Amino acid sequence: MVGKLLIYRGLTPSSKAKDLMTDFYAVIGNPIAHSKSPIIHHAFAELTRQDIQYERVMAPLDGFAETVGSLIAQGFKGANVTVPFKLEAFEIASQLTERAQDAGAVNTLIFTPQGIIGDNTDGVGLVRDITENIGVSLKGKRVLLIGAGGASEGVLHPILAAQPAMLIITNRTLDKALNMVKRVEARDEMVYVSVQAHAFDDLQDQQFDIVINATSAGLTDSQLPLPSTIFAPNALAYDMMYGRITPFMAFAQQYGATVFDGLGMLIEQAAEAFYIWRGVRPDTSPVIEMFKQAQPSA
Ligand code: NDP
Repeated sequence: MVGKLLIYRGLTPSSKAKDLMTDFYAVIGNPIAHSKSPIIHHAFAELTRQDIQYERVMAPLDGFAETVGSLIAQGFKGANVTVPFKLEAFEIASQLTERAQDAGAVNTLIFTPQGIIGDNTDGVGLVRDITENIGVSLKGKRVLLIGAGGASEGVLHPILAAQPAMLIITNRTLDKALNMVKRVEARDEMVYVSVQAHAFDDLQDQQFDIVINATSAGLTDSQLPLPSTIFAPNALAYDMMYGRITPFMAFAQQYGATVFDGLGMLIEQAAEAFYIWRGVRPDTSPVIEMFKQAQPSA
C-alpha cells in the first residue's frame, strides 16, 4: 500500500534533505489533484516567514492508515484530511480535541512523538468567515442549516456556541437531521439554543436571518426544494461550496439575500490548522483576496 503513495509536487523530506529546517505537511484525499490547500498554506508560510513544504497526497481508498503511517515515517509533522477520509482520520487519532469529538470527524492531524492528535477546524473556519470576514454576528439570529452530512456535523457545535436564537436543520434524509438534534439535546450546555429538525416542506411559513447550505447539491447543479420566502430582510445566504455559482446561490440572490460561497471558510479552516501546527496565526485577508481575483464573483 505504501508503494502506492502518490505525492504531488515531488518534494519529500528525503529529496529535500539539504533544507534541514523545512517542516513537511500534506493534505490527504481521494481525489486530491484539485485541492487548493498547498497554495493556501504556502501563501500563509510566505506571509509568516515559516519554512514549510505542503503537498497533495492521494491515498488509495483502502489505504488511508498506511498513507498516514508512511508520512509519519518520512518525518511529516502533520496533515489535513479531506473527502472521503475524515471519519477514518477520527478513528486513527490516538488523541482527539473536544471540537473533533463534537464533530465526529477529523480534518487536521498533528504528528507527535506521543501519537497522532486529531482536530477539526471546519466549524471554526465557517464561524470566523461569517462573523469576522463577512461581519455578520450569529448571536440572536434565526439560522437555517441545510444538510446533515459531514460538513453540517462539523459546523453544528461552533454555530451553537455562537448563540443564535434558533437553529433549524433540514435535510433531504430527515432522519439524519433528527439524529443531529438528538445528539445536541443530549448535551446539557447547548440547551439555551432552540434546535429543531424540519423537513423542506415544513419551511413554508418560516424566515431566517442566516441560511447555510452544507449540502453537496451544488456539485450536480441540483436545486434545493426551498420556499422563496425563507430569506428574512437583509438575510445572509452562505454556500459552503466554492469556485462556482450554485443553484442555491442564484436562488438566494434572486430572493433578496446577500450571498457568499465557502472560499472564506476554506481559507479560515486552513489558517486554524496552520496556527495549530506552527503557533503563528496568518492574516487570511490577502489570501482570500488572491483567490477572489481568480474565481467568478458570487
Ligand atoms: P456529505 O456527502 O457528507 O453530505 C452531503 C449532504 O448533501 C447530505 O446532507 C445530503 O443529503 C445532501 N445532498 C446531496 N445532494 C443533494 C441534493 N441533490 N439535494 C438535497 N440534498 C443533497 O458531504 P459533506 O457534508 O462532507 O460536504 C457538503 C458540502 O460542503 C460539499 O459541497 C463540500 O465541498 C462542502 N465543504 C466545504 C468546506 C469549505 O471549507 N468550504 C469544508 C467542508 C465541506 P442526504 O443526507 O439526504 O444524502
